[in-house]
Amino acid sequence: QVRVRFAPSPTGPLHIGGVRTALFNYLFAKKNGGTFFLRIEDTDQNRFVPGAEEYIMEALEWLGITPDETIGKNEKFGPYKQSERKHLYQQYADQLIQSGWAYYAFDTAESLDAHRKQHEEQGKTFIYNHHNREKLDTSLVLSTEETKARIAAGAAYVIRFKTPVNETLHLEDIIRGEVKFDTNLLDDKVLFKSDGMPTYHLANIVDDHLMETSHVIRGEEWLPSMPLHVLLYRAFGWDAPEFAHLPLILKPVGNGKLSKRDGDKLGFPVFPLEWTDASSMTQSSGYREKGFFPEAVVNFLALLGWNDGTDKELYSLEELVAAFDLKRVHKAGAKFDPEKNKWFNHQYLVQADDEKLAADYAPILAENGFTPSIEKITKIVSLIKERAHFVSEFWEMSDFFFVAPSEYDAKASKNWKEETPALMQQLITILAAIEDFTSVNIETIVKEWMTTNEIGMGKVMQPFRLSLVGALKGPHLFDIVEVIGKEETIARINTAIT
Ligand code: GLU
Repeated sequence: QVRVRFAPSPTGPLHIGGVRTALFNYLFAKKNGGTFFLRIEDTDQNRFVPGAEEYIMEALEWLGITPDETIGKNEKFGPYKQSERKHLYQQYADQLIQSGWAYYAFDTAESLDAHRKQHEEQGKTFIYNHHNREKLDTSLVLSTEETKARIAAGAAYVIRFKTPVNETLHLEDIIRGEVKFDTNLLDDKVLFKSDGMPTYHLANIVDDHLMETSHVIRGEEWLPSMPLHVLLYRAFGWDAPEFAHLPLILKPVGNGKLSKRDGDKLGFPVFPLEWTDASSMTQSSGYREKGFFPEAVVNFLALLGWNDGTDKELYSLEELVAAFDLKRVHKAGAKFDPEKNKWFNHQYLVQADDEKLAADYAPILAENGFTPSIEKITKIVSLIKERAHFVSEFWEMSDFFFVAPSEYDAKASKNWKEETPALMQQLITILAAIEDFTSVNIETIVKEWMTTNEIGMGKVMQPFRLSLVGALKGPHLFDIVEVIGKEETIARINTAIT
C-alpha cells in the first residue's frame, strides 16, 4: 500500500521547489493507487510563521494537487500537525535512551560554539559524537547517577542519537541508486530537548512510522539526513520506508539553488500565491496573481527533473499521473527556465476555451469602462490569444477594438504618402457599399478593387491598419474591421485622413 507525504515546515510561503516535491508525491501516489497526505512539521516554534500553514493548503488547492488526508480531512492517523502530537514523542526518545541508542547531553550553546570555532581555526570540521566527546571535554561524560541528578535538579539537556562507530552504510535511493555514508563522519544529532519538543529528525521518523509512510520523496537537501533517518528506524526496530531524493531546482543563470532573489531580479514569481512578509512588509507576487494557469504551472514543474523518455511536453494532470515514474527522475539538478515557464502558459492559453478566456477578460474590460457582449469578447479573444502568454496582456493587445487611436505610430506613419488620403477616400466608398460586413467578404471585395485598379497591397493595407489600430500591429486586418463594424471603421479612416 503506497502512502506518501508532503511534510513542509510552516516557516514561510511555499517555494516552487516545495511545490514540485508535493507534486511528485501526488503523482507517485495516484500512479500507484495510493494515498497522498499532508503533514505540517511545526516542531521548531522559533521558525513558525503565522499564515504559512493556510498558505500551503491554499496553494495545493489552487494547483489541484490536494491531499487525501490532512488537518480536517480523513484524519486516519491524525493529528496531522506535529505541535498537536507533542505528547507522543517523549516516550520514543526515552525508548532510545533505554535501549542505549541515545544519551543525555548538557553542553551549553557557548561551549559548542567555542568547539566549533576552535575546529574551524584549525581547518577541521567539528563533528560532535559520543566517541569524540571525551576528547572535547571530559566533564561532559557523566555517569548514569550524575546524569539523573542533573536532570532532577532541573538542568537543561538534550537527547542525542548515538551514531554507531566505524560503519559504512550502503543505502538505496530510488533515484540515486546506492549511496554510501561513513558513520564516523556523522554528528550525533539532537532528537529531543528539555523543553519537551522533539527535533525535526525524531518527529519526522516517529510520524512517518505511525502514519505508515511507504516512500519518502523529498528534496536533495535532505539526503545528508538519510543515514540518521535509516539508523533511527534501525534503532526503533522499525522497517524504513523507501527513499527518493529529488534533484535541486537550479538558478536560470549561474550556479546554485533557485532563490527568491533570482525571481526578484529576473521578474518571475517563485511562489505559487502572493505572499506578504509581515516582518519586512514586503510583498512577493505569486503564479496565481501573475495570471498563470495552475495546469500550466503543474505541467512545467513536472518536467523539472523528470521526463517520460519522449519529446512530449504538454501533459494534463491525468496524463502526468499515467506517465510518471520515480525511476525516471534525474539525479542532476534541473535548471529553472522562466521563459519556458511562460511558454507553457501560452500553450494552455491557446488551448483554452475562448468563452472561458472571455469570462476572465470581461472584468478587465469592465475596469477599463467597457461591457461588451460575451460573444464579442469571445470573438476578440479568438483573434488575439495566439500571441499572448497571459489574459492580463489582452487589454494592451486589443484596446483598439474599443478605443479609436488617439495617435499614430510615428515610424509606421512613413507609409502615409501623398496619394494615401485619396485612396482611403475610395476605400470608404467601397466599404460603405458592402452589405454583408463579414471578414471574408470585406477582404474579397477590397482586394478585388485593388487588383482591378492595380493598386499595390501595401499602399492600402498599411494606412488602413494604421487608421484603425494606430500602429502596424494586431490580428488579421479584415477580422478587426468586422468586429469594429462598418460605421466605426469609416469614422476612424475619416479621422486619419483629416
Ligand atoms: N519538514 C521538512 C521540510 O520542511 C520535511 C523533510 C522531509 O520530507 O523529510 O522540508
